[in-house]
Amino acid sequence: MKPLDYNQSEHEIQWCPGCGDFGILLAAKNAYANLGLKPENIVMVSGIGCSGKIPHYVKTYGFEGLHGRALPPAQAIKLVNNELEVVVFAGDGDGYGIGMGHFIHSMRRNMDMLYVVHNNQVYGLTKGQASPTTEVGAKTSSTPKGVIEAPINPLLLALSSNATWIGRGFAGDIKHLTSLIEQGIAHKGFALLDVFQPCVTYNKINTFQFFQQRVYKLEEEKAYDPTNKLMAFERMQEWGEKIPIGVLYKEDRPTYEDQLPQLASGPLIKQNPKRDISELLKAFA
Ligand code: SF4
Ligand code: MG
Repeated sequence: MKPLDYNQSEHEIQWCPGCGDFGILLAAKNAYANLGLKPENIVMVSGIGCSGKIPHYVKTYGFEGLHGRALPPAQAIKLVNNELEVVVFAGDGDGYGIGMGHFIHSMRRNMDMLYVVHNNQVYGLTKGQASPTTEVGAKTSSTPKGVIEAPINPLLLALSSNATWIGRGFAGDIKHLTSLIEQGIAHKGFALLDVFQPCVTYNKINTFQFFQQRVYKLEEEKAYDPTNKLMAFERMQEWGEKIPIGVLYKEDRPTYEDQLPQLASGPLIKQNPKRDISELLKAFA
């Protein structure tokens, strides 16, 4: 497979020119191609926001759901057919604000899927309101005098919610981001990939240049051990002059679906397709 094989020409891309979303789109197609995934075996699921449009732009199966609620249908899809690669896309307002409850419970549940969060530290589609990751002091359309709430740290939240793979990428480094998407898909369990995705229209602080000057790659540090929870805890708090990207944490734990006896003989969709449920339905009549 080549990245071009995932091109979708039916829908014109609606993102602003220069948006970090383009980097995520390209990296996702690169990663699918490098992993040799067939378009018909991938389901891209999203919520609402600029990030929510991404399934429309790739030739795979796709589902755009409700704001903050990409993860519930993604988990339903995985339960019905756990042979599919489920890749979920959300924004910071979408996934870390409105969908926070789903986020936490998905991590402790540990279904095998990748959750890519386009973290531009602002609500983009609704015209630039402060989101849960907007920096203190940032002037936005909803905080004209500056944000006075402390931002959440999604990586620390993931660590404390028993996520089994936690990564962070930058939409301005497509090669590195491609590798992270590949690793997140290959991980057996729930993988969170938070991506710095500059919003060129509404966030004038956390720009491409801001991140280019600060990010460094954890894998270039030989002493960093992503299986060490304490080391990850410390590094996840680093913000300012230097900001780490790469795989911050990983562990092996059985997935939710692998522990379900109902799936032991294969995906639900392939089991006894002629089962008569008319008696069951009568109970709900
Ligand atoms: Fe990208 Fe921001 Fe434009 Fe949305 S509003 S498409 S996040 S630049
Ligand atoms: Mg956002």
